[in-house]
Amino acid sequence: MKRIGVFTSGGDAPGMNAAIRAVVRQAYALGVEVIGIRRGYAGMILGEMLPLGVRDVANILQRGGTILLTARSQEFMTEEGRAKAAEKLRAAGIEGLVAIGGDGTFRGAMRLLEEHRIPVVGVPGTIDNDLYGTDYTIGFDTAVNTALEAIDRIRDTAASHERVFFIEVMGRHAGFIALDVGLAGGAEVIALPEEPVDPQAVAETLLASQARGKTSSIVVVAEGAYPGGAAGLLEAIRAHMALEARVTVLGHIQRGGAPTAKDRVLASRLGAAAVEALTGGASGVMVGEVEGEVEITPLKEAVERRKDIRRDLLALSRVLAL
Ligand code: ADP
Repeated sequence: MKRIGVFTSGGDAPGMNAAIRAVVRQAYALGVEVIGIRRGYAGMILGEMLPLGVRDVANILQRGGTILLTARSQEFMTEEGRAKAAEKLRAAGIEGLVAIGGDGTFRGAMRLLEEHRIPVVGVPGTIDNDLYGTDYTIGFDTAVNTALEAIDRIRDTAASHERVFFIEVMGRHAGFIALDVGLAGGAEVIALPEEPVDPQAVAETLLASQARGKTSSIVVVAEGAYPGGAAGLLEAIRAHMALEARVTVLGHIQRGGAPTAKDRVLASRLGAAAVEALTGGASGVMVGEVEGEVEITPLKEAVERRKDIRRDLLALSRVLAL
């Protein structure tokens, strides 16, 4: 393999740049050229490509977002769109792809491989941590730390005003961020999409903490834990008790920012591993880190198998939130 392409797609995640840098420099070490594809599949269809040399990825290791830009593409969801993308890749002499993104990105990559035989290796880049075959995805650690900092600040206000705060964190289908942030932030209640949320039980937990002398509480809610997110849950609870509480939605501040050391190390390692796998003949797989070692998992499994949350940690959070 003489020339490979790299792109970022779907939601941006801190550490994507570190992964791009690792791809480019590992490829250089192996004598392989790298072409950067801008704006994910949308840019692939339009042929938005540029050669990436080792100097082009200088000074990006510490930057959030992605220098290659990212996008969502409806056109790529169609067979014609994917045929156009494959044509552009062939015209540019690209023999294989490193796809950095989440499950949607990998589903698209699998289609490109099936329909056009373009070899592809995925790198898990999403703050959601919802991919099977890696203990952590690139960006998750940074997102958790960003949300945690926000919660620590809100707790100051909650304590000073003796108030209850409902804080909504990202996670439509997965509660990984909510669980880690909730445990690390000492939340009284953590509401996740993986566990049924009973408003009455939440109300009782809050009343019981008040009875034990707590004057302020934090409820961490993953956006997909309850219809309407944190605001929806609070409204449902108000049917059971008169509760004075504030809602804060952390939103997109969780996405950006400089990646943590952990995310930079993970991105460096997985970006390089993806190039080694791809040039070594692997395809239709994702590189991940499992118990400290690089592991290769079929893309199909990475997107279809469910990685469960650590229920022991959820139980622990309840014991510790006395
Ligand atoms: P993420 O990779 O963060 O999960 P998305 O779900 O938005 O992000 O997916 C990114 C892009 O991947 C989509 O805009 C679309 O172009 C492509 N994609 C997603 N799912 C499929 C699919 N089933 N078939 C083809 N392309 C897909």
